[in-house]
Amino acid sequence: MKFYSTKQQTPPVSLREAVLKGLPADNGLFMPEYIPALPHDFFKNLENLSFQQIAYRVAANLLGEDVPAQDLERIVYEAINFPAPLVSLSENVHILELFHGNTLAFKDFGARFMAQLMGYFVRDDKNTLEILVATSGDTGSAVAHGFLNVPGINVTVLYPKGKVSNFQEKQFTTLGNNITALEIDGTFDDCQALVKQAFLDKELTEKLRLSSANSINIARLIPQAFYYFEAYKQIKNKQKPTVFVVPSGNFGNLTAGLLAKRMGLPISQFVAATNANDIVPYYLSSGTYQPRPSIQTISNAMDVGNPSNFARMADLFEEVDKMRNEIKGYAFSDEQTKQAMSEVKEKYNYIIDPHGAVGYLALKSYMGEFGENINGIVLETAHPVKFAEVVSPQIGEEVAIPERMRYLLEKEKMSIPMSANFEDFKTFLMKK
Ligand SMILES: *Cc1c(COP(=O)(O)O)cnc(C)c1O
Repeated sequence: MKFYSTKQQTPPVSLREAVLKGLPADNGLFMPEYIPALPHDFFKNLENLSFQQIAYRVAANLLGEDVPAQDLERIVYEAINFPAPLVSLSENVHILELFHGNTLAFKDFGARFMAQLMGYFVRDDKNTLEILVATSGDTGSAVAHGFLNVPGINVTVLYPKGKVSNFQEKQFTTLGNNITALEIDGTFDDCQALVKQAFLDKELTEKLRLSSANSINIARLIPQAFYYFEAYKQIKNKQKPTVFVVPSGNFGNLTAGLLAKRMGLPISQFVAATNANDIVPYYLSSGTYQPRPSIQTISNAMDVGNPSNFARMADLFEEVDKMRNEIKGYAFSDEQTKQAMSEVKEKYNYIIDPHGAVGYLALKSYMGEFGENINGIVLETAHPVKFAEVVSPQIGEEVAIPERMRYLLEKEKMSIPMSANFEDFKTFLMKK
């Protein structure tokens, strides 16, 4: 399988190149040249398969030519080592909990799979791959956990001093081994600028094999298709049409769902749920793609004004009418989101995070417009404790850190304090 650039200004590349490079030189995004359908017997047998078995079959369908079966199976089993349970709130409303990984959000799926696949591709190389990642909290922890102990790869996380929560900080400063955390005396933008400058520095790039764990790497997208199959498996009444509701920011999650559908999963509709950053719902209604500066909301992982995966969606559909047939879009305010968190708690005794709440609202709107006789599945993208400061006051109840994560709070922080001056960062890297 080759991977082409959505901009088509560079020739298609191998999986290895797509994964290690991240981005094509023409600044498009990599896409698989074709998306084969899975065989009928796979779907007939779905309910007898474990999540890992399903994930392997889906991965092999796309990557089976490029990674030998045994290696691919090991990669998948290593990456997908936590469940994605479907919780039914009612006969029509289901929640797909994607937060059972190490950092309590769905990004663990993508980060872990990308880490394993990169590790596989560099396994015989003599130069260590040095991954630099700037974070305002979440990306850094998912990437750090994903790459922890992957041979041949080191990760350096840069984060702004005093600007991430204690729990977040513990997630990437307590790991040790191949993960180093730099506590930068500056802002998130400073951290990002340091990373960018490192990639442009000749001396550094000659000495070190630098890489970024880019969020638009194709290796992060593919594993996100796995859990659409796992969700469908868990639906009891499969007679009704399946509608996936995806709380969206950069639209990677939704794009992965489109891949799952192209592989044959019987998905009737997608619902793109956004906060005030309603670029895609606006595109679906008006036909005009109009990126804007992002607006800050309480569902802040979706505060994106120019969704990076829109290029992949546009590439898959080619025209807006085709996209409209498969995707409906709805957007909601913070006030509505807060009300929805209360409603879900009162009606179903379920604690939903602000991103999931936006999805819940979109499902209600969709049902109001197109009818209720469906299986509506809302992707719950994060554990509510990650947003406890908005969730707890709204529902009048503390949200507890899951038992399995409490040990982190006891662990000692190990980070290297550093100025936001590039020369300091460079000196640190040159010593590697
Ligand atoms: C990243 C993220 C999203 C948005 O996902 P995209 O794939 O960028 O659309 C939604 N919710 C949470 C909690 C996230 O971390």
